[in-house]
Amino acid sequence: MVLAAPCYICGKPAVLDGLCAECYDGAHPLVHVASPLEIQTCKRCGSVKVPGGWKTIILSSSEADELVKRQIDRLLSQQVERMVKTAEVSYEIENRLDRVVHIRLKAVGQSHPALAPHEEEYPVEVRLSYSTCDTCGMISGGYHEAILQIRADGRDVTEAEEQEMLDIVTRIAAKEYGRDSKAYATERDKTRKGFDLELGSEHMCRLVADEIQSAYLAERKENYKLVGQEKGGKRKYRVTILLRLPRWTVGDFVKVGDKPCQVVAVGKGSLTCHDLATGERFTITPKSSSWRLLAFAAPESDKRQYQVLSRAYGQPAQLMDARTFEMTDINQEQLDPDLVPGETAFFIIIDNKLYALPKDHSLSPPASSE
Ligand SMILES: [Zn+2]
Ligand SMILES: [Zn+2]
Repeated sequence: MVLAAPCYICGKPAVLDGLCAECYDGAHPLVHVASPLEIQTCKRCGSVKVPGGWKTIILSSSEADELVKRQIDRLLSQQVERMVKTAEVSYEIENRLDRVVHIRLKAVGQSHPALAPHEEEYPVEVRLSYSTCDTCGMISGGYHEAILQIRADGRDVTEAEEQEMLDIVTRIAAKEYGRDSKAYATERDKTRKGFDLELGSEHMCRLVADEIQSAYLAERKENYKLVGQEKGGKRKYRVTILLRLPRWTVGDFVKVGDKPCQVVAVGKGSLTCHDLATGERFTITPKSSSWRLLAFAAPESDKRQYQVLSRAYGQPAQLMDARTFEMTDINQEQLDPDLVPGETAFFIIIDNKLYALPKDHSLSPPASSE
């Protein structure tokens, strides 16, 4: 039987390198962390200053407590040195003043594979200071490289469309955030006719414009305006991209040449139409030769409901306008064969001609087969 030599620090039986487990752990800490630690944050957006710039904190909830935690997470990810890679590090906020947060950092792990896991605790004082990050500084200074103007042809931009477009802007800004400190947009000049956005970066403006153009099949115009000179004498330009949404949207009626159609889907760069005379569906894009023949015919709200009064073989079917009780005749072939007297269906009048709208009319999403 071999008696362990005593630990040279405390005299208990030694287990490793002449030390007992506690003294070995004490001499080989799992982590190193200094106290106090300083952290600089943006008072507007909560970004944290890191070597070489600012790091955005994207919060899922806007809770203020959550923000400080995330800022401290970011700080500790840089300031806690792990001597043992597998150590698990966590912390608790013990108390919080305006500019000072006291935390208790905990590390759990094995300082040596031969020893049992142990826990270490470190009180750390975190000192917060506030300033304005580069992005917020540019926003508040009104800095913008590009303007995006949204208008619609012969109508107002609807609230729903505006919200959809602002969602696109938010999504792209979130994606570019962190990579592009100028990935921000501010709305200005909002009128019923449309709205303007000022965008920090031209790059982001182009990403947003491309997506809106394709989603709405908008017409696009770009303009450069001289806004000054850089230090070296190079001229500085600001781009304005104007996107004009078409007059028609899903559900409206258009004519492609002399073919009356209903718009079934708009998006991903193409327009899907239902030919009211033949019942066929077809897709065109702004690159199609027939695109220039495309013209607005009637809004969806112009469609009317009729009741079928009679259908007799070899005779025109009789219809009655459900609102005005006016009677009209229509060719049998133009009616859904399943439509029986007493039933109602929707119709649209284009160029004084009555067209039946399909019974199970599914507008959007775009036909995926093309
Ligand atoms: Zn010892
Ligand atoms: Zn900021």
